[in-house]
Amino acid sequence: MLADTEDVWSIEFERLGRRYAPPALVVYRDRYPTGCGTGDARMGPFYCPADRKIYIDLSFYTELEKQFEAPGDFAQAYVIAHEVGHHVQNLLGISEKVSAMRGRPDYNEYSVRLELQADFLAGVWANHNSRYLDRGDIDEAVRAANQIGDDTIQARTQGRVVTHAFTHGTAEQRMRWFRNGLESGRFEDGNTFDIPYERL
Ligand SMILES: [Zn+2]
Repeated sequence: MLADTEDVWSIEFERLGRRYAPPALVVYRDRYPTGCGTGDARMGPFYCPADRKIYIDLSFYTELEKQFEAPGDFAQAYVIAHEVGHHVQNLLGISEKVSAMRGRPDYNEYSVRLELQADFLAGVWANHNSRYLDRGDIDEAVRAANQIGDDTIQARTQGRVVTHAFTHGTAEQRMRWFRNGLESGRFEDGNTFDIPYERL
C-alpha cells in the first residue's frame, strides 16, 4: 500500500517539476522513540515531520475493526494515505507554514485546513488506486477512522507532531474533502487554505 502511494506521488511530483522522496513506515508495539517524542499506541497513527516517518501501532486496526466494524481494506488504507498526505505537505513546505502559526488565536483553523488537505490528498491517492475501494462504503470508513482518532489521540499539543486531536474538522468535512480528492485526482485542486473557513 505504501508502495502504491510512492507510485502516485512520484508521478504527481514529477508533474509539479519536483522529485518525491517517500516516507518510511515504522510499525511498533506500545511505545517507541520517534523524532517527535515517544510514540504511544494510544495516540493512533501519526506522521513525524522531523524524521519523515509514519508511525503506527497495528492495534489501531484491531480497534478500528472491533469498535466500529470498519471495513478492513479501505479503512486501513485510508489511515495510511492520510498520513502520507501529511508527508506530502511536509515536502511542499505547507506543514512548516502552519506550524509557524502556532500560538496565534486562529491556529486551530490552520490546523483544520491542514487536516482536510491531508484527507484530500488521501482522496487523490485513492483516485489512482480505486481497487482499494471495493466495499463502496467510504463514508463509514472515514467516519470510523475519524471517531477512533478523536477517542484515542489525546491532545499532543507540544512537539512537532502534526496532531489529530480536536483539530481535524468534522467527519462530514473530512469525507467531503476526501471525496473531492477522489473525484479530482489532482493535487492542485486541494487548496484548503484559499477558501473562507466557514465554507470549508
Ligand atoms: Zn492528520
